[in-house]
Amino acid sequence: MIAVENILRERLFDKERIVDLLNADANESKFIFNEAARIREKYLGKKVHLRGLIELTNKCSKNCFYCGIASSNKKINRYCLGMDEVERAIKFTDDNKYGSIVIQSGELQSEEFVSYVEKILHKIVEISWGRLGVTLSCGEQSEDTYRRWREAGAHRYLLRIESSDENHYYKLHPKNAKHNFQNRINAIKTLKETGYQTGTGVMIGSPFQTIENLADDLIFMRDLDIDMCGMGPYIGHEDTPLFQHKNICFSKEDRLRLSLKMIAILRIMMKDINIASTTAMQTLVNGGRELALKAGANILMPNTTPGIYRNQYALYNNKPGIDEEADDSKYSIEGLIERAGHEVAYSEKGNSKHYHKRMVSCAL
Ligand code: SAM
Repeated sequence: MIAVENILRERLFDKERIVDLLNADANESKFIFNEAARIREKYLGKKVHLRGLIELTNKCSKNCFYCGIASSNKKINRYCLGMDEVERAIKFTDDNKYGSIVIQSGELQSEEFVSYVEKILHKIVEISWGRLGVTLSCGEQSEDTYRRWREAGAHRYLLRIESSDENHYYKLHPKNAKHNFQNRINAIKTLKETGYQTGTGVMIGSPFQTIENLADDLIFMRDLDIDMCGMGPYIGHEDTPLFQHKNICFSKEDRLRLSLKMIAILRIMMKDINIASTTAMQTLVNGGRELALKAGANILMPNTTPGIYRNQYALYNNKPGIDEEADDSKYSIEGLIERAGHEVAYSEKGNSKHYHKRMVSCAL
């Protein structure tokens, strides 16, 4: 095993060294977290950028083994927000100077859904006069759909690979045309080619995953030269097929430790990308999002979905904020950013600095 201090000094992040970083004990890990904090401060300052999150619909055509809104789960009521509800959430986000909005949904490819999202995008531009940054997280779509949404006003897209190891990917997804590993990678590449600030990420500590898989995930993100990352711990959901393997996944403590390490190592490897502090961190432990900010994350997504729908967008058990309305979420988010020693960047889009650098170097 190579000493953590040497790895950080040499800055050669190959698989063997990343595995050593992920396995580092609590004492040695302090060097990793200190270095991630130093880099975050140097490249991004203290700012945390907000994205008002709208969970548009829990209708989904896919059957991911870990996900509570998979189409096979017959126990949940399916909803789709109406335009009036979406408009209220857009106005809330704009009035409260969040700077950006995220539309997340189950994965639907129908023309009805594609044009509804298109209409929402036009509405965001109209209501905010173009003030709001717009991120989509609506799954795998055709190149044409990605282009339509880009032209309608979206400029960031998050599509998690979930696991960059093909064998492990198929432990998390059925092996069929709808859940094809290579198609998912191609979709991420298409997003980049279509001009989006492109993000991906993985679930950390899911059943059958190894530390080596996680090291490969970090290398995958670096090699793809992503602009943003959203990753967080796997949380079991009792109505999903993967739940039966809960005894072979990492312990809660290990998932927390590994999630924070993944964020910190990625921050060290990719200094100027946007990294989200995810809701799943908070589900795992109270104060989890605060810890993620301290480990190197710089994005938070206060939920603006109307309270009555929150418990139906149940990706996993014990999702926090399901009994809150948008105002409560705003209040808790501000406090946690201050406790993490950071400051809210109101009225700023918070685009990925990495993306801008990429665009400038393409133009040269
Ligand atoms: N359908 C879109 C897609 O696939 O990109 C976006 C919605 S999907 C529900 C959003 C994310 O929730 C997934 O990418 C997955 O990583 C996360 N998720 C779902 N179930 C989870 C679980 N049990 N634990 C942790 N994260 C989960």
